Amino acid sequence: MVIATQWVYRFRDGNAQMRDLLGGKGANLAEMTRIGLPVPPGFTITTQACVAFLEGGRQFPEGLWDEVLEGLRDIEQQMGRRFGDARDPLLVSVRSGAKFSMPGMMDTILNLGLNDQTVEGLAARTGDQRFAFDCYRRLIQMFGKVVLDIDAELFEDVIDEHKRELGIQHDHEIPAEHLQRMVEEFKAIVERKAGRSFPQDCHEQLRLAIIAVFDSWNNRRAIDYRNAHGIPHNLGTAVNVQAMVFGNMGPDSATGVAFTRNPSTGEKGIFGEYLINAQGEDVVAGIRTPQPIHAMRDDPLLRPAYEQLLEVAERLERHYRDMQDLEFTVEHGKLYMLQARTGKRTGRAAVKIAVDMVREGLIEPREAVQRVSPDQVEQLLHPMIDLNWKGEPLARGLPASPGAAYGKVVFDADEAKAWAERGEPVILVRLETSPDDFHGMLAAQAVLTARGGMTSHAAVVARGIGKPAVVGCSALEVDYERQEFRVDSTVVRKGDFITVDGSTGAVMLGQIPTVAPAVGGDLSVLLSWADEIRRLGVRANADTPEDAAKARELGAEGIGLCRTEHMFFQGDRITAMREMILAQTVEERRAALAKLEPMQREDFIGIFKAMAGFPVTIRTLDPPLHEFLPRSEEEIEAVARDLGVSPDLIRAKVEALHEANPMLGHRGCRLGITAPEITEMQARAIFSAALHCAAEGIEVHPEIMIPLVADVQELRRQREVIDRVARELFAEAGREIPYSVGTMIELPRAALTADEIAQEAEFFSFGTNDLTQTTFGLSRDDSGRFLPFYIEQGIFPADPFQTLDRKGVGRLIEIARDGGRSTRPDLKLGICGEHGGDPKSVWFCHGAGLDYVSASPYRVPVARLAAAQAAL
Ligand code: ADP
Ligand code: MG
Ligand code: MG
Repeated sequence: MVIATQWVYRFRDGNAQMRDLLGGKGANLAEMTRIGLPVPPGFTITTQACVAFLEGGRQFPEGLWDEVLEGLRDIEQQMGRRFGDARDPLLVSVRSGAKFSMPGMMDTILNLGLNDQTVEGLAARTGDQRFAFDCYRRLIQMFGKVVLDIDAELFEDVIDEHKRELGIQHDHEIPAEHLQRMVEEFKAIVERKAGRSFPQDCHEQLRLAIIAVFDSWNNRRAIDYRNAHGIPHNLGTAVNVQAMVFGNMGPDSATGVAFTRNPSTGEKGIFGEYLINAQGEDVVAGIRTPQPIHAMRDDPLLRPAYEQLLEVAERLERHYRDMQDLEFTVEHGKLYMLQARTGKRTGRAAVKIAVDMVREGLIEPREAVQRVSPDQVEQLLHPMIDLNWKGEPLARGLPASPGAAYGKVVFDADEAKAWAERGEPVILVRLETSPDDFHGMLAAQAVLTARGGMTSHAAVVARGIGKPAVVGCSALEVDYERQEFRVDSTVVRKGDFITVDGSTGAVMLGQIPTVAPAVGGDLSVLLSWADEIRRLGVRANADTPEDAAKARELGAEGIGLCRTEHMFFQGDRITAMREMILAQTVEERRAALAKLEPMQREDFIGIFKAMAGFPVTIRTLDPPLHEFLPRSEEEIEAVARDLGVSPDLIRAKVEALHEANPMLGHRGCRLGITAPEITEMQARAIFSAALHCAAEGIEVHPEIMIPLVADVQELRRQREVIDRVARELFAEAGREIPYSVGTMIELPRAALTADEIAQEAEFFSFGTNDLTQTTFGLSRDDSGRFLPFYIEQGIFPADPFQTLDRKGVGRLIEIARDGGRSTRPDLKLGICGEHGGDPKSVWFCHGAGLDYVSASPYRVPVARLAAAQAAL
């Protein structure tokens, strides 16, 4: 039930704070009026009136129409002409405007108040027959479309016929007589299609227009838009009734749109376009090509209006303390403001504007930090498709790793590497990727797969190394045999150029121009403000010295997850790794491990150096060993040759390691427990690297992390190995290095027994990728088949691998936190799953009182900003 005493507010009685009641457009029209800008007079019918209308059986609520008439009288008085006056008519526009801008959702009607008599009065008063009939035909056209629901094409066809007959291109060249004929033809269309005549009673026009705007709140498009953007359905829209001003009165008149700063670059200074002798939506409708706003300065008829527009823009920016998107009209050289709202902008512009406005003294740093969304920062860190590109993508997949790149299609990792080495940009296209493809991914500009979800191998690895990736692009029929892929009837062959946009999931044919990322500069400034605000630490997931250096550059305060196995996939290392796996005896295994140790040690030295002074969390070997073995027959033969063993031996080992469910199989700490020499080797590599660095005067803080622990006994055993190696090496070196040992919490049982586990752990790191899998009993590699359906149907609110599931996984984190801290009050808590870089999940981690999040290097800036916003 809506109880209100006032349904209508004159512009001069409202203000910007009244968005709920007046809608965004109405509140800003009121505000502009209040501060003395040239706004044509008008009034706003409240959103409550709309709600009352819709809830009250589509009847105007009591008193509404009287208030409308009263408002109209006020406009009449200010304009000095009357609505419906046959000699000198007042015309008005009826404009919708909800609390949240809903672009294109509800339509505006211009020139209300024209009929067969008043059009003559308008022509006589202005001495411009052409102008008057142009307004009239526009009214019938808009009214027909918006109020009477007539197909707009029918009117457009008539206009086109006239232009053809006249041999002209543009609407504004149509002479008066033709416009007059057009009006008659339009009226006939209305009769025919709506079964009623175009209303000659001006008040009837107004009443029907208001009802049409009210009703449009519930049109399909509006409902869909609200659903998609989480806007409640019970807000209603306001209706603005405003005196018309005319941009279509000749060469000294115009209509235009402008931003107070460039919305794609953020550059200070007005930016926009206008059309001479035009009305309303002509600028955006693409009827004629508009001119850039600066051209107004060089037009003597428009120059004064231009100068005034600059002043208004400046004033509005200072007033709203943000970049504004403006709509204006110039009538016979005089400027009128018709709309102002906060302007939409790209990530790049958002950052620049926020930082500039702090420098200009318009806003405080805390406000700047709140103005930029994490998504906008994300956009900035990667090359993007040029905004001017307007084509259609060939196919779409999941936007797995942001950034855009083009290159020549190759289907094989070795080939990707070879082509890249001779300087060719390549895109690696696979059905899906495996660890064997790592070198190819590294060499490629981007990765495209036909299968897999947001946490598939391709997606995780690509994000980790900061490569654009589109995965799960199911329209792709990849044919390795013929070295081509098809999308419907389009065939793309090896060597053809494609462009992949990992920010949107789009795949395009050919080389689409991209724009470079804009790290540094303004972004660094903004993030330094964020750093002062946030409580949560931000670390990076980094596996190599290069990644570690990148992570530092992007502001990481340590490494939250260094996956040691990634080091084993490259070059000769995988060979040594395979020797280790194929070893028949402990001695053989030790011999193979001895080859790996120095390589691993070198990597750790590099990482410790890059992270000097910051903690580095190193995880011991985690994946099941079969991942390191070849799969196909050809690969098996090749590896057998490399290792000098029989292919049968390898086949047998592959067979022996085969698991029905590797995710829950012989992996994580279970490897180090059955083969402690592996953990021992890794501990040796870590501590000897740390000692080496310490000897060079570099401050190191190793934290050794044991994966997939379910029971405290597992951690205790692994810890014994690590502590023993540390004692031995420290004794040998005559120097001690402070280190800690902790565990991942990635199994529900670990979370539930966290009090016990904390006896042996100095820190917990929530491995939320696996914790999500194990909590839901959901394989992230296989969930692509049904998860999208679940989300579409609203069974799950979001992909739990992307946004942390608070109810279940979040609950386990809280249980583990409380259990762990009950045993060890100073237990350090962090998160190292993919969620560490997801803004919503960062908010959760802040609220849950964790100490830090760890994200892939390229998401570190996003996490820094999100952590600050969570703290504000
Ligand atoms: P939208 O929300 O779709 O932008 P608007 O209500 O802002 O719709 O109207 C679209 C355009 O119609 C405005 O940008 C302006 O050019 C024109 N318009 C609306 N009201 C008036 C008016 N009173 N006088 C002149 N032009 C108007
Ligand atoms: Mg508008
Ligand atoms: Mg894990």
